[in-house]
Amino acid sequence: MSYGNISAEQALQLLQEGNKRFSSNELQSKNVSSQRRQELLTKGQKPFAVILSCSDSRVPPEVIFDQALGDIFVIRVAGNVVSTIELGSIEYGTEHLQVPLLVILGHDNCGAVKATVDGGEAPGSIGAIVDMIRPSVDKARAAGASGDDLYEQACNHNLQAMLTIVEQSPIIKEMVEHGHLKIVLAKYLQSSGEVVFF
Ligand SMILES: [Zn+2]
Repeated sequence: MSYGNISAEQALQLLQEGNKRFSSNELQSKNVSSQRRQELLTKGQKPFAVILSCSDSRVPPEVIFDQALGDIFVIRVAGNVVSTIELGSIEYGTEHLQVPLLVILGHDNCGAVKATVDGGEAPGSIGAIVDMIRPSVDKARAAGASGDDLYEQACNHNLQAMLTIVEQSPIIKEMVEHGHLKIVLAKYLQSSGEVVFF
């Protein structure tokens, strides 16, 4: 399947349709044959969406959006946080590969968010992730969230915080201003399998 010059709206629709198939247990069969691999190798990749997502093993974007080889350009990092490296990957995916849609995807019961909320020890480099999420936890707490709701509100604030970081990139800014890129926030709900777009 080739996506050519697809619009952001069409790209979003493809993701929504794919997630609907996933959440209703109606996954499409995927062409992952050697022939398809060779085709992608020869023609190059032309993904239709860039997705920033958490590394959590329960939330693989290719699966929850029911997509195949060459369809989506994925950046995965615990807590779906954005530092320079992730931002570079997002810029490459959107600008260089001319992808019209960026999805910043969080999920419920995120371990990275939970660890930040619970405030336990974050050894090694894990602290760098916790440090990025902490302002969002503080915001959720200040707004009065507590208990399980605090985890989810912190996750939602974290999506907004990452959006703010992404929007500070001159490359991304210019693409958005010229109407070449649309950025959406979304959250995957594990029990229903649904992705809610904000
Ligand atoms: Zn997570």
